[in-house]
Amino acid sequence: MRRISRFGSWGSAPAGLGPMSPSLRPSSRIARRTLSSISCRRRVDTPSASLTLTTSFISSTSLTSPLITRQKYRSLATHTSTVTATTALTDKPRVVILGSGWGGYNLSRKLSPSHYSPIVISPRSYFVFTPLLTDTAGGSLDFSHIVEPVRDRNAKVDFIQAAARAVDFSTKTVICEATVVKSGVTESPRSDDDRSHTDTENAKSEPTQPSWEKGETFSVPYDKLVISVGTVSKTFGTPGVRENALFFKDVGDARRVRRRLRECFELAVLPTTSPEMRRWLLHFAIVGAGPTGTELAASLRDFISADLMTLYPSLKGIPKLSLYDVAPTVLSMFDESLSKYAMDAMRKEGVDIKVSHHVEGLRWGAPGEQAPTEMDPKRCLTLTTKEEGEVGVGMCVWATGNAMNSFVRDALADVQAFPTESALLKDGKGRPDDDLVQRSAWHVKKAPKVGALLVDEQLRVQLENDSGDTVVLQDVFALGDNAMPENGAPPATAQATFQEAKWLATRLNRGDSQPTAPFSFRNMGTLAYIGNANALMQIPHEKGQHSKYLPEGLKGRVAWLVWNSAYLTMSISWRNKVRVAFRWLLNHLFGRDVSRY
Ligand SMILES: Cc1cc2nc3c(=O)[nH]c(=O)nc-3n(C[C@H](O)[C@H](O)[C@H](O)COP(=O)(O)OP(=O)(O)OC[C@H]3O[C@@H](n4cnc5c(N)ncnc54)[C@H](O)[C@@H]3O)c2cc1C
Repeated sequence: MRRISRFGSWGSAPAGLGPMSPSLRPSSRIARRTLSSISCRRRVDTPSASLTLTTSFISSTSLTSPLITRQKYRSLATHTSTVTATTALTDKPRVVILGSGWGGYNLSRKLSPSHYSPIVISPRSYFVFTPLLTDTAGGSLDFSHIVEPVRDRNAKVDFIQAAARAVDFSTKTVICEATVVKSGVTESPRSDDDRSHTDTENAKSEPTQPSWEKGETFSVPYDKLVISVGTVSKTFGTPGVRENALFFKDVGDARRVRRRLRECFELAVLPTTSPEMRRWLLHFAIVGAGPTGTELAASLRDFISADLMTLYPSLKGIPKLSLYDVAPTVLSMFDESLSKYAMDAMRKEGVDIKVSHHVEGLRWGAPGEQAPTEMDPKRCLTLTTKEEGEVGVGMCVWATGNAMNSFVRDALADVQAFPTESALLKDGKGRPDDDLVQRSAWHVKKAPKVGALLVDEQLRVQLENDSGDTVVLQDVFALGDNAMPENGAPPATAQATFQEAKWLATRLNRGDSQPTAPFSFRNMGTLAYIGNANALMQIPHEKGQHSKYLPEGLKGRVAWLVWNSAYLTMSISWRNKVRVAFRWLLNHLFGRDVSRY
């Protein structure tokens, strides 16, 4: 994972939209027309905004759009009679923001409501303050302390709970699927999303989705589009990982980790549990010794040693935490001396650091049992490494890196048409002519191997054709983990994504006519918690050049104090800043929350 900073209605809404927010609510005349009979997509262009009636895109948009084939639209649609009305009653340009994470949420809050009408479209209705996610798994914080709802009475931002499934650049619309009643949107996907094209093993076991979970599909027009849909966990196609490991990206994941940890302790003390199974159930494996895996190991270690061991005195000496990585060190983005300090400190605290280990598989059942074994949460799993063979574990959390989700990987791929009036050929060659557009096969420009959207220095999405021409889509932007600026990719961190969102909001608020300096990342430092009230802080410096006045980094208690104050000040709302501070204080007085739900 590339990361640096650790501080760092009911009602008559048309199908697919649910209760409508003010700027999406059609005027009654329009609504009546839309809901009753209109079966074509009519667009009334105003100078800046588009007053658009988008109806039955199956019967209209799909047939007119060269981007998405009829078949693809059909596969997106659940009710072919779906009628969608999205009308902007405002004359402000509509900025459609995909994603409610570090990029999407912060951009939506920073766009000027007097210039734009922002709409966030995201499968989840909240923002997660990820740097404190490990604290929720370790019982130090409640899940509600680190989330901010997208719908907020003080923010002039609309929201649709849906996942973007496709973009039609030629008609400037996003095709979405509602996710309001979909289960598992707070957790990392176990099936489709992270499956690489070659990961056919996992494809076989993809769970079937109940028909009621399939959301209505509809289209939303945009004047400007911002893509910030993040990434999914990368499993490198390791057998059994997608189905059996726990991931760690969202509050649903943290809840699962905490629940499973508590479950394993309760299973271990059952009189029917054999000593051997007890040992396996209380062995917790974390794969990936980057910042997420290391901080999770540290938080769980604190939780087990300071809180759970007082509740289960009979289990003394049995629980074990192992941190696996193929790299020869933990926290490899830190200076060597700091990462060595982290390894030594964590080993002393009892974390089994297994660097230079290659995980080869994960399955349910005890070591030595004949595979295939069925999932049975009453028992352990078996983790296989090249170096040690099979070991029994109560849970395995997978935190090894980022992969593009299916929307970026598949939906943003080939492009058959795009609006020439808002596209520019790269290197000052002007607008592309229709002939060039039609003559060539175009696709979205992506970073080789990683697959992230390769944006220009103004964070604009680019298309390229087979002859090497590149066009910049002036109204489509991408930021955060799913994007890479060509002029130097910042690390995939909240710190970098926040800076991109702030930069883009400033640029858009200023207006397109004003020239803007390219985005450039400013490294504010790197923090990581390593357990027992110790942390590391890497002070930014050029490779091999340290400041005369600043130390290379901080470690131990001092760094931990910086870690605490940095995250407290960076928490978004005052309500959560106060709740987090108060909860940390309560933990000192009464211990962490050990409940299981
Ligand atoms: C446990 C953990 C701890 C971390 N700690 C730190 C730290 O201490 N410091 C630091 O700098 N960085 C940290 N990071 C990294 C940081 O969280 C990411 O770099 C950052 O979240 C990236 O922001 P983003 O907006 O690109 O993606 P995200 O924040 O992941 O948001 C993506 C959003 O897109 C939505 N989405 C997904 N698919 C679709 C779709 N098809 N249509 C519409 N919306 C969609 C998702 O629901 C989500 O709301 C941490 C990450 C994790 C997982």
